[in-house]
Amino acid sequence: MREMDHTCIISQTPSGPQISRRTALTALGALGALAATPALAGPAAATTYPNPNNTPTSAIRTYGDMIKGLEQLQRTSRGAVTVTTLREVGTAEYLSEQGRELYVAQVGTGTRHLWIQGRIHGDEPYGLDSLMTVLRSLVSSGSPTYRQIREQFTIHFIPVYNPDGSEMNTRTTTLWDETTNQPRLGANGRPLTVDLNRDWAVNGFRARESRAWYEYWTMVKPEYALDIHHQGMKVDRTTGEAITLSLGVSLAPGGPTLPGIRGGEYDVLTRQMAGHVWQQVDHRGHITTDRYDVGEGVVIDIHGGVVSAMMMGLNWNGLNPTGHSNAAIFFETSGNTRDGSLGQKARGKLIQQNVLGVEAWLSGLATGAVQRLDPEIWEQIPHDPVQYYFTDWGGTIPA
Ligand SMILES: [Zn+2]
Repeated sequence: MREMDHTCIISQTPSGPQISRRTALTALGALGALAATPALAGPAAATTYPNPNNTPTSAIRTYGDMIKGLEQLQRTSRGAVTVTTLREVGTAEYLSEQGRELYVAQVGTGTRHLWIQGRIHGDEPYGLDSLMTVLRSLVSSGSPTYRQIREQFTIHFIPVYNPDGSEMNTRTTTLWDETTNQPRLGANGRPLTVDLNRDWAVNGFRARESRAWYEYWTMVKPEYALDIHHQGMKVDRTTGEAITLSLGVSLAPGGPTLPGIRGGEYDVLTRQMAGHVWQQVDHRGHITTDRYDVGEGVVIDIHGGVVSAMMMGLNWNGLNPTGHSNAAIFFETSGNTRDGSLGQKARGKLIQQNVLGVEAWLSGLATGAVQRLDPEIWEQIPHDPVQYYFTDWGGTIPA
């Protein structure tokens, strides 16, 4: 069957029914891009590594840009931001596979903790840009809402979860041999790659990034999490409108997993968080929003995704003995670097919609508007009727 290349399922081979995609997507998914990847040159050369995709690199901010931006923010924010690395935090693993530092920016003084991550998929760039913009606003704005957010929460911003993939402009990271400073090779002679959003699994944690960020999560114990991705281009089949932002999460609301967690608490919270953001941003300017899917009537239910594992309270390696868990949602910005659709022209708009979405999510949680919202709003967000759940644990399951 055709490969579905909305963001979160590329590394899987669907075994279920023939599924027609909602929109015409480019044939070259991440697997194609990886096959075209030449031999890697090592961390020092990574910033000059040839872009295997089509998007002009001028539209993409780098890991180095992030460090510069965070350091500048720390200097100018009069203590409102704490920029730290996991090396400084003291997690057992604290570097990426290729040896890059893993950065977190903390804002706020509240006892409730929030987790916001971008760019777990390296070729999905605008989580980085939008989180840097939100960070700057959060520390400089005197508005009562922002003050309330800062007082209630300590927010842990991870602008680049996957620095190596970001530098290589690849979805995955590559497992690295520190001795030879070369990729580790599989039996087929190709570099071993890991989708970091499939690696928080009992038999996962193959990549150092996963072990480092997981341990940090067990220290933070956030109350809510937000994960920013990109998806393929998408059009509403009824109205013909381009969808610019999709809302959902990697365990389907009403699906085979989420309603069974904590008596359905996170199933409800997912609907409320997505519903609140949808109310706040849909049709504001250029923004058109719907529910996240990976094909007509197909939604994901993956257990190895980072925020899935958070919701399931994964206790890996004994690091989460109390079974901490937290609700989470995804933002999916339309356009991937792998289909070359993220030119400079779209950049500002796509970043701005994420900024508005993150701000809506934060203020809704701070004021309690999210928790007061009728979860039935989920049904009002435009979507195709769910027919199949695409899983990483049980094949494709009919709804
Ligand atoms: Zn993604």
